[in-house]
Parts: sequence; structure tokens; C-alpha cells
Amino acid sequence: MPELPEVETVRAGLAPAVTNAIVEAVDIFDARSLKRHHGGPKDFKQILVGSKILGSVRRGKFLWFPLHLADKSTFPLALVGHLGMSGQMLLRKAGEPEDKLTRVTLHLKTAKGKSVELRFIDQRIFGSLAIDELTETPDGKPGGYSAGIGKGKAWQNLIPIQAAHIQRDPLDEDFDEDLVLEKFKKKNSGIKRVLLDQQTLSGIGNIYADEALWRSKLHYDQPALTLSKAKAKELLVHVKEILSKAVEVGGTSFDEQYKNVNGESGYFAVSLNAYGMTGEPCQRCGRQIKRDSWMNRGSHFCPNCQKLKV
Ligand SMILES: [Zn+2]
Repeated sequence: MPELPEVETVRAGLAPAVTNAIVEAVDIFDARSLKRHHGGPKDFKQILVGSKILGSVRRGKFLWFPLHLADKSTFPLALVGHLGMSGQMLLRKAGEPEDKLTRVTLHLKTAKGKSVELRFIDQRIFGSLAIDELTETPDGKPGGYSAGIGKGKAWQNLIPIQAAHIQRDPLDEDFDEDLVLEKFKKKNSGIKRVLLDQQTLSGIGNIYADEALWRSKLHYDQPALTLSKAKAKELLVHVKEILSKAVEVGGTSFDEQYKNVNGESGYFAVSLNAYGMTGEPCQRCGRQIKRDSWMNRGSHFCPNCQKLKV
């Protein structure tokens, strides 16, 4: 499943082509990919065609593209993309051979006048595209990360309603560490569960949670409120480091389905110490990494370095 670094790789890859591009046409091959768009396929098309894309923004695993509508109405809307389990957004030159499992194609004219296709590909159809209203952020700060594009523009401090319930992710300039530490102090559930709770902080999934816990020598079921402030801070430092490192190398090539906008996989897999390393020696102590079943998934950890402390 794409996690924050994979989604950030997509955002950054799309930004130069889509910023200030005009949507000239939209092909919908499978309306199931528009399940989160409430007006149906016709409405989706009608809003998009002729609109200008103003930027490429991300919070956690949500991507959005604020729109300047063709009818010049000032009502703030954005195209929102969620990759779900297997979604991809690929950029292709106009007319390139079709990619299998393309569900929706946006035909764009870039700011430089080039014709490109933004193809939304999704094998399992847990991902989606939708047009959503933008709403003000509760803290009045930017809705998400846009690498500086849109600084000072009205849309920067807005967030799609679909994404408004999730907290800022650790790579967000306005990430509030104290707020997250306070939340940890109130949670009796296991720290991994808390790390994955998008309403505590967003953007962390199974892979990067296992890696951050390994680095912090924390058991996945250690109740969050038992962490000392120093330990909790250390964990957040590791989370940030791991996410930044993974963004740098374009994410983790963990399955065939995740690709960047050019269709290539990332290289973070070589840096993994816990996730997917079942039976391999721990890089710290040599004990075999173990995998426990955990919430329909798995937790990978070192039984020696990451003991549950009571
Ligand atoms: Zn170990």
C-alpha cells in the first residue's frame, strides 16, 4: 500500500507538469474510481474540463489539486486523489500506448503548451478521484505540503473536506509535535496503533511504523501513555528521519503496484531493518526478526531489542 513517501513522490513528480495546466478533456473508463465524487461521472467531467490546476498539495496520504474553474466562479474546489491500496498516477505524453487498468485519464495542456495525459491506474479500486470543496484549516495554516507553490495564494490555507479530519503529518512544516506528545499521553492503546491513527498524526503506515519502532527499540504493543517524553520525542525523530529518507529515494519498492509518475519503483527497500525481514538477523543484536499477526496485518520486530515493558 502506498504510504506517505510514495504519495509525496507522486505529488512532487506531478507538480511541474500540472501546475497551471488546463484540463482539456477527461476520459472515464471505470466510474468505480469516482465513488467518492458525489455528483457522478458527468458532473466530474463538467467541472474539470476547462479548469486550470493551480498546484499539487499533500497531507498524509491525501493528494489534491486546487482548481480555477472554467466558469471563473470563485467557489474553492480541488481535484482530490487517494491511491488506496494500489492506485498510481502516471504522466504520459499524449497518445502514448495505453497503460493497463487505467480508470481515468485527464488530458492536460501544460503551462508550457505541451499535451500530456495524467492517468489514474488502480488495480483493486480502493483508490479514487473526486472533486471536493475546500474548507479553511482550523489553525489557519497551509492545508498541506506543496513545496512552496501557492505561497500567499488564497487556496494555500484550505483543505478538502475529505481530508480535513486527518492531522498534519511529520513532514509538514506546521506539524505540532507538542500536540502529538499530548495525545500519546492520553492513549492506553499500543504505540503502533497510535502511530497509525491518522487523527493523532497522519502519513504513517505499516512499513514505516515497524521501522521507526525498531529504531526506537519499542514493542508495537507498548501502551503509548507509558512512553517517557524523551522516548516519545525520540520516536518522532526516527519517524521523521525514516519518512524523509524514503521520500529522498522515491519510496519503497514493496510491491509491483507502486510506481512513481514515470512508472519506476523506489529504492527504500534496501534500508529496511524490520519490515519484511522475518527470520533475518536483527542488525543490532543478531536475534531473528519476528512477525506477529497484528490487526489483519503483521508487525515485524526484534524480540530482544523491542521487549514489551510493564
Ligand atoms: Zn535486536
